[in-house]
Amino acid sequence: MPAETRFIADVMLGKLATWLRLLGCDVEYFPKIPDDDLVERASRSGRVILTRDTELIRRREARGNHFFVRGNDYRDQLRQVAEHFSIVPSGRILTRCLRCNETLEAIDRSAVRDRVPPYVFETQPDFRTCSRCGRVYWRGTHHDKALAEVREIFRLQE
Ligand SMILES: [Zn+2]
Repeated sequence: MPAETRFIADVMLGKLATWLRLLGCDVEYFPKIPDDDLVERASRSGRVILTRDTELIRRREARGNHFFVRGNDYRDQLRQVAEHFSIVPSGRILTRCLRCNETLEAIDRSAVRDRVPPYVFETQPDFRTCSRCGRVYWRGTHHDKALAEVREIFRLQE
């Protein structure tokens, strides 16, 4: 099985980056990175550049190493990337921190007692956390809403 494709998104694709992370994809995103640095970082770290920038893709270093995203609607963009790179939309939902791109790790319930609202602690059996920012994730309302939107974007059955 080929290694999973890792990405770096250009400054115009912040929302797409977040949604790809939500699907479990490894996507670096820096809101203010200069094109030079982006291209350099991509080739150094073996990441495919996701871009809306027609100038950027003319650069020699980016030529064979980018996917040009069409349109401004993140849902369209997400479908394009998923289709092109054979990403299974519902396969790994919420396994990665939306903020840092870090893979989430299971964490013991007792360790999150003081870090989540009491109601959440009482009603949720499983928690995961990001080792970089410490944010705690659980299968609550946000998870369900995100899942519902992913189903709608990809027209998946319930
Ligand atoms: Zn994080």
